[in-house]
Amino acid sequence: MAEFAELELLLKEATDRIKQALHTEELEAAITGYLGRKGELTGQLRKIATLPKEQKKDFGQRVNQIKDTLTALAEARREQLAEAEKAARLQAEAVDVTLPGRLYRTGHTHIMFDTIFKVKEVFAGMGYEIVEGPEIEYYKYNFEVLNYPPEHPAMDEQMSFYINDERLLRTQTTAYQGRQIPLHTIPMKVCTVGKCYRRENVDATHGHTFHQVDCFCIDKGISMADLKGTLQEFATQMFGQSVDVRFRPDFFPFVEPGAEIAISCVLCGGKGCNVCKGSGWLELGGAGMIHENILKSMDIDPNVYSGFAFGLGIERTPMLQRGIKDLRLFTENDLRFLRQL
Ligand SMILES: [Zn+2]
Repeated sequence: MAEFAELELLLKEATDRIKQALHTEELEAAITGYLGRKGELTGQLRKIATLPKEQKKDFGQRVNQIKDTLTALAEARREQLAEAEKAARLQAEAVDVTLPGRLYRTGHTHIMFDTIFKVKEVFAGMGYEIVEGPEIEYYKYNFEVLNYPPEHPAMDEQMSFYINDERLLRTQTTAYQGRQIPLHTIPMKVCTVGKCYRRENVDATHGHTFHQVDCFCIDKGISMADLKGTLQEFATQMFGQSVDVRFRPDFFPFVEPGAEIAISCVLCGGKGCNVCKGSGWLELGGAGMIHENILKSMDIDPNVYSGFAFGLGIERTPMLQRGIKDLRLFTENDLRFLRQL
């Protein structure tokens, strides 16, 4: 019978299309095409009216069987495709945790910062209070309070950066003493570390900007021995056990007696080399007993109390420790230099 043969052909065609559907959309289109209200199989049912009476029942049963078969097939394929599509979606959305991360360049502290930190650590360890002073300072604190005689060459405009008649960039951290002494009660041990500025002809060993540590200590019975012991302890902690400290008489308006501080050359051990210019000693700064004029001006009785003060350049320390020959490198921010440290 041609009608029955057509049904079987339809079954085979539909079975293939359902089994071969590659994704849900294609499957649903096939299902609608065969089993939908206007689908091909549904269309076959209308033929029943044209068939001879004895075939009507068989034909109708066969159509329903095929409908059931295809419905079951479609359901199975629908589940398969849904699972495959879910797996594909998960894979597409997956995060690959084996990919290497992005590296962030964090940089590091500047060598001067490290040195300043170490200096502060040493003096804080000896009981000094670490304070800050302004870099733009009054002439009064930078010079007058520190007992500078009117004709002192450091006060010359040619030697300093003046902001106006009253203010200049401090030429020494010692300027903080006039601010700090009135703020403290005896005994006092105070320390500051910071930038200073002088109008210098810049070369490998002279800069317009440099760093100093300045400390002072006021109490009963303070002597040069305390000063020397403090500086020896500082030198030992910074440069090692074998370093000696040397005092030689020198003049600074704010101390009496005054001394130039030198340490034995850390490179040649005192034998003499290029860095110490054959002398075996390296100058670090100035020191002495606080001048009685200053104590008096701060309402401290010099017959009862005494104190010492010293100021040291900082740049020399990393230069010696790291073999850096030119101090301009500290302020030029050249990454080729900074990355080496
Ligand atoms: Zn030397």
